[in-house]
Parts: sequence; C-alpha cells; structure tokens
Amino acid sequence: MKKTVLSGIRPTGNLHLGNYYGALVNFVKMQNEHNCFFFIADWHSLTTHPDPKMLHTNVKNVLSEYLACGLDPEKSTIYVQSDVPEIAELYLLLNMQAYLGELEKTVSFKDKARKNPNNVNAGLLTYPVLMATDILIHNADYVPVGKDQEQHLEMTRNYAQRFNSKYAVDFFTLPTPFILGQNLIKIPGLDGSGKMGKSEGNAIYLVDEPKVIEKKVKSALTDNGPEGQNLPKPDYIENLFTILKVVSEQQTVDYYEDLWGRGEQRWYGSLKKQLAEDIIKVTSPIREKINDIKGNNEFLQKVTAQGAEKARESAAKTLKEVRQIMGFKKF
Ligand code: AMP
Repeated sequence: MKKTVLSGIRPTGNLHLGNYYGALVNFVKMQNEHNCFFFIADWHSLTTHPDPKMLHTNVKNVLSEYLACGLDPEKSTIYVQSDVPEIAELYLLLNMQAYLGELEKTVSFKDKARKNPNNVNAGLLTYPVLMATDILIHNADYVPVGKDQEQHLEMTRNYAQRFNSKYAVDFFTLPTPFILGQNLIKIPGLDGSGKMGKSEGNAIYLVDEPKVIEKKVKSALTDNGPEGQNLPKPDYIENLFTILKVVSEQQTVDYYEDLWGRGEQRWYGSLKKQLAEDIIKVTSPIREKINDIKGNNEFLQKVTAQGAEKARESAAKTLKEVRQIMGFKKF
C-alpha cells in the first residue's frame, strides 16, 4: 500500500556525491512507490540567523539541485516550508505537548547551545517541535532519517501519542524511520576518512566543474603501491575502489583489482585519472541541469507554487481536524 513519506532538506551547502548516492538516488525511486513530500526547511535555518540576502539564494540552490537530481513535482509534493502557514499554527498547538525538561535534554540542543552560547534562542530549544510539526501536519507514516535525527523522530512520536491520549483520539499517525535500502551505499572521503561530508571538507560536489573534480581526485591519499600479491588493501585505497565501483563499469573495476592482486606498481595515477573521468560522467549532466534550473525563475516559481498548493491542501485538512478535536469552533 502507498504510504506517506516526508523528508526535509536544509537550505545549506551543496549536494555532494555522498548525498547523491546515499539519499537522492533512493528518493527518486521512492517517488514511484509512495506519496512523497519533500520540503525545504527555511524556517529551521533561522536558529542560526542566516544573512537575509543569502536565505533566498540558499533555498533556490538547494531546490535546483534536488530537482536536477530527479525529484519530480508531478510525482511528489515539493514545497518551501515558509509557504505553508498552517505549519506555524500547528507548531503553536504542538508546543503545548512539549515539556521544557525534555527539550533541554535533546542532544542537538545541548550540542548547538554549547557551540553557540551567545544565541541560545527559544527557536533552537523548540526545534524538535517544529520538526514534529513538519511530519505530523501531513500525518506521515515514514521519515527517512540519519542517526543524528533519530531522537527527533522519537520526540515526534511522543507528541503525537500525548495528543492522541490527552484528547482520547486516534488522530496522529506515529511516524517510523524509513529504511532507504538494505545495502545503503556509503561514499567514503578521498582523504582516507570513512565518510564524504560537507563538514569533513573532503566532498566532491555535484556542481564542481570537471577541472575541480580532477584536482580533488588527483590529491586523493595513496602510497607507493602494493607491497606484494593479493594483500588486503589499506583503507584509503579501498576507498578509491569503493567510489570506482559506484561510478565505473565493472570491467574498469576488474582491471584495477587485477593490478592490485598482481602487486603491480605505478598505476595509481591511471586509476585516479579514470576515477575522475567516471565521476565527471555522472556529475556533468546533473551540473548542467542545476545551472539550467537556477536560471529559469519561471520554472522555479511554477514548481514552488504548485508544491505550496498541494502541501497547503494536505496541511489544512490536518489542521481543521486538530482544531475541532481541541475545541476551537466557529460562531
Ligand atoms: P548531510 O548532507 O550530511 O545532512 O546528509 C544528508 C543525507 O545524505 C544523509 O542522511 C545520508 O542519507 C546522505 N549522506 C551524506 N553523506 C553521505 C555519504 N558520504 N555516503 C552516503 N550517504 C551520505
């Protein structure tokens, strides 16, 4: 049966190869199987006081990147959070289900308050309530979450359950984590680290020009070559093979595996060249699409207007029932 799945997108930074293979490829498939909502969480970004000039640019960039990767406004509901005022009202109502003690204990709150002690605002404290609202406003069944978001989803379930039990209704669905796939691909860093990431400073971005990608791959950590035949690979070499397996043809992978197995020397340069070429083959069409979409304001206007309309319809339906349950009535 079709389920409702919701995923939020933070309007910060660009998408990298890890985001693409770890999340986007799966989101694109998910659209064919489920009723998907994808939204750009611009209200969420206010906790860190973004530059007003940059806020819109960031929303535009991230929206263009997601659309270029294949999120389809005809299949999914793609919207900007601040275009849906119903979210703000439900946020107010759900705040009454959230206890101060719990909010103060949230890992992400403690972490951010420690890192930024001069701006511990109430919005930061109630961030999990806004996140719960994003989910509950569409009564989502599933939310694809990373490890750092699991606690927030648990809090969402608590608020939903509290509401249901206080008002003796079975109204809010308790959302569960969406498992994106059994063998989720993790893209490693080129610097020998286990994960490619924005904050790790080792990412290859989808918008990177071919020259930039070549330079990044060229500087990947390697050594003098295998010290014998059929040895286990050190992590930083294994990482290069992991990316190769994702972006290249099987016969390319086999060719370099064979060189490694035979303990040959002096082929890392060729491996890097091939790897860069195959990454560019994947990212170039996406980069071109991103740039096209970014330059097409009419299209972006149409997508966001259509998304806001669909999202508001779903949100208004939920809010109407919540108001009734809570006792708000028209004269
Ligand atoms: P982030 O950009 O770190 O907020 O990550 C957003 C999502 O992209 C995560 O929840 C993962 O699903 C995915 N992701 C990020 N980095 C990687 C990576 N190196 N390999 C695979 N998936 C990743």
